[in-house]
Amino acid sequence: MIYGLLSDIHANLEACEAVLADLAGVDAYLCLGDIVGYGPDPAACLERVRRLPGLVCVAGNHDLAAADRYDLNWFNRQAREAIEWTSRQLTSEQKGYLSALPLTAEVAQATLVHGSLPDHMEYVAAVRDALRCFDAMPGPLCFIGHTHVAECFLRRGKSRFCEHMSLLTGGEIVLDSSPRYLVNCGSVGQPRDGNPAASYGIWEVEARLLEMRRVEYDVAAVQRKMRQAGLPPFLADRLSRGR
Ligand code: ZN
Repeated sequence: MIYGLLSDIHANLEACEAVLADLAGVDAYLCLGDIVGYGPDPAACLERVRRLPGLVCVAGNHDLAAADRYDLNWFNRQAREAIEWTSRQLTSEQKGYLSALPLTAEVAQATLVHGSLPDHMEYVAAVRDALRCFDAMPGPLCFIGHTHVAECFLRRGKSRFCEHMSLLTGGEIVLDSSPRYLVNCGSVGQPRDGNPAASYGIWEVEARLLEMRRVEYDVAAVQRKMRQAGLPPFLADRLSRGR
């Protein structure tokens, strides 16, 4: 079984299409949440993603907020403005789809969650956050998103130490049977690790192989649409920097 891994698409249709073109032919897709929010194409991205074969998708904080199911006070001003705009672009049926997404899912011994475990919308930004998530992981592998930073934490046994691997330019990981892995898939539509190219992955379950990749897309086209839509300029500008 070969899965395509997507996270934090954030209504960026150009990035989404570039990633899906490269993932064509995988058996099924896993999505770590935040299909919408920030970007100019929430409805189009949602329709594209929800129809992917074998999709298993968990809810992100922006998905729930756009569906009026998450307190807007958790967001900064620009994010809030974008969520309010996003909410106006979605039909009630689309909001129903987003609000019905589960907070976690289990697929072939992997746990999917947007932010972390046990608190689903926490950020795994440092080793101590990763250790907390490892403590709550039911299996050997967990896929997350939320920080928009592609990276992998690896823990051996009950060690209080985590090995860390940056996936800033992608990378291949052979999933050995003894350590446990916490893999942040980065962001398709709004990377914040300094690399503006869209981040995504391919997980070959039987081969125990995980490959993270980056692909460039037409950033300027997305920025133009964001400005036309009246979305906060900072959100458009940051796409060029990947920050
Ligand atoms: Zn996000």
